[in-house]
Amino acid sequence: MREVAALRIETGRILAILRDMYPDAHCALDFTTPFELLIATILSAQCTDERVNMITPRLFPRYLSPEAMLALRQEELEELIRDCGLFRSKAKNILGACLLLVMRHGGEVPRTMAALEKLPGVGRKTANVVLSNAFGVPAIAVDTHVFRVSRRLGLAESDTPEKVERELRRRIPKRDWSAAHHWLIHHGRRLCHARGPECLRCPLSPYCPAYRSGAVHPK
Ligand code: SF4
Repeated sequence: MREVAALRIETGRILAILRDMYPDAHCALDFTTPFELLIATILSAQCTDERVNMITPRLFPRYLSPEAMLALRQEELEELIRDCGLFRSKAKNILGACLLLVMRHGGEVPRTMAALEKLPGVGRKTANVVLSNAFGVPAIAVDTHVFRVSRRLGLAESDTPEKVERELRRRIPKRDWSAAHHWLIHHGRRLCHARGPECLRCPLSPYCPAYRSGAVHPK
């Protein structure tokens, strides 16, 4: 029981510091509608948000709906998104997703995990990003930064994104799920790099098991 209380206090401290460090953390992908965010998130696989933000103005507002996007042949869409890597499979997935949106959802982006995960190119992480940022549903999308940083900080121990998400949902109050996702991403990008984390500048170092144990090699 005491251990649970101690964990809760430790988690609260870590979240409070992250909140102070990144009060304006938000989704770095540019979008104005759930459909735009869905497409941007599919494009963001193994690609930086900055690059995706350079590509999406080629698509929007011209192809602002699934119906409009389906007017493109796959080769035409590939040409428009070719700078983002994996462009052939992404173009195929985007057109497949648009077809399902039209056939099953009246051209709208669905608001449930189950329906989103059935769309080509949409896994649990992408679905969580859309639910959280487009619809305001509390969610924690576990990308490479969230996975690494939460494990270093001892917020999670598991070895798959799905299990880490479950652990984070248990440790973090639901009201903070979506914000914590952004805080952890920002921290991973700014200080807690995969290689050479900047622990000596990190206000979380007194609470960070990875730093205290010497498991990471700071810059
Ligand atoms: S102390 Fe180092 S490893 Fe721990 S969260 Fe900060 S930057 Fe990351």
